Amino acid sequence: MQLENNQYTLSGGINPLDLTEQFGAPLYVYDSAIIERQWKRINAAFSYKKTKFNYACKANTNINILRVLKDLGAGLDTVSVQEVRLGLAAGFTAQDIMYTPNGVGIDELADVVKLGVRINIDNISILEQFGQMFPNVPVCVRINPHIMAGGNSKISTGHIDSKFGISFHQVPHVLRIVKATGITVEGLHMHTGSEILDAEVFVRGAEILMNAAVNFPDLDFMDFGSGFKVPYYEGGNETDIEAVGEKISARFTEFCDNYNRELTLVFEPGKFLVSEAGYFLVKTNVVKTTLSTVFAGIDSGLNHLIRPMLYDAHHEIINVSNPVGRSRIYTVVGYICETDTFGVNRKLTEVHEGDILCLRNAGAYCFSMASNYNSRFRPAEVLVHNGKAHLIRKRENMEDLLRNQVEIPALKREEVAA
Ligand SMILES: *Cc1c(COP(=O)(O)O)cnc(C)c1O
Repeated sequence: MQLENNQYTLSGGINPLDLTEQFGAPLYVYDSAIIERQWKRINAAFSYKKTKFNYACKANTNINILRVLKDLGAGLDTVSVQEVRLGLAAGFTAQDIMYTPNGVGIDELADVVKLGVRINIDNISILEQFGQMFPNVPVCVRINPHIMAGGNSKISTGHIDSKFGISFHQVPHVLRIVKATGITVEGLHMHTGSEILDAEVFVRGAEILMNAAVNFPDLDFMDFGSGFKVPYYEGGNETDIEAVGEKISARFTEFCDNYNRELTLVFEPGKFLVSEAGYFLVKTNVVKTTLSTVFAGIDSGLNHLIRPMLYDAHHEIINVSNPVGRSRIYTVVGYICETDTFGVNRKLTEVHEGDILCLRNAGAYCFSMASNYNSRFRPAEVLVHNGKAHLIRKRENMEDLLRNQVEIPALKREEVAA
């Protein structure tokens, strides 16, 4: 979203206020031009020819977003059988889908085997059972490189106490299972967590995976996961993706020369591809001045966007209804009946009741983590694509809230009105 002639616009010159006028608020809006910009940037960063990017779709699973990424050439990274099915419904081929679950039972894995997608196994017990049940299905193995990284302990997955992956110290055990079951290991994987800033951290993890790889002669790919951080405000810090691309491309080329095969280099960006493409447009319900604070209360809350409360995530907030007025300090809060603060002491152009505010970086882990808490409807979603705005998810209604609730007849007696 940019400021042009004193007015915020999306690509194609679309005015966000026209969208809330047409589709109501609160409203998620995604701009496919920004997804494409990020796609081109990450592709340009890696000079290694056989590099593949699987979009980690838990960030945003709207089927139209999946299709935008498929058309750009992405594969798909999924974490549940339901995400696998969404990917197939979006038109990804089974072999372009990687399934990287955590802590699922063997039954779900057996279901996914039938769908023909690539399978990533992240613990010894399941690897052993899987190898006995499906000795002819090749697998990828998720290795934990024990690297502490990431913006927040909840999104850091590669450290020593983490529940994710098989420790690289347990590679000998993996090899015994491979030998005993005759299973083929076609890939090695790691995902150290989210929001790694330093290219060196990626390289350190990659080194550990490449060390392990020499024990596996049948590899087709190595998957270094994700953790690419995007800036959360003008000039905010971000992963130096170009530095990561240059370092890993060089090191991986060298590795493949020694391994004697040109493997596919895989990454699984989620946030990097879609975070900045998303805007969450909300209406100001009330401006409330207390003894210490001016609150802007909006028609949304942690039910629609929980990252500030769950991860202390920062989302920039702008007042699109008043792009160039003088600024004041506001604390922006939600309408949920517990504390749900979107931003403390934010400088916003003067906010009036009814103004549309925009929370930026709302493309990843926002709608996909939304709930019906307080029995509120989840918002509608709009995709701006090739200069046109398309409704891609309807706002919920009362029927949606009651769907799947089963009424007990004896409790359903009509009360006689007094
Ligand atoms: C969530 C996840 C990703 C994506 O992480 P981002 O920080 O959104 O890029 C990649 N791989 C796996 C296995 C994941 O669970």
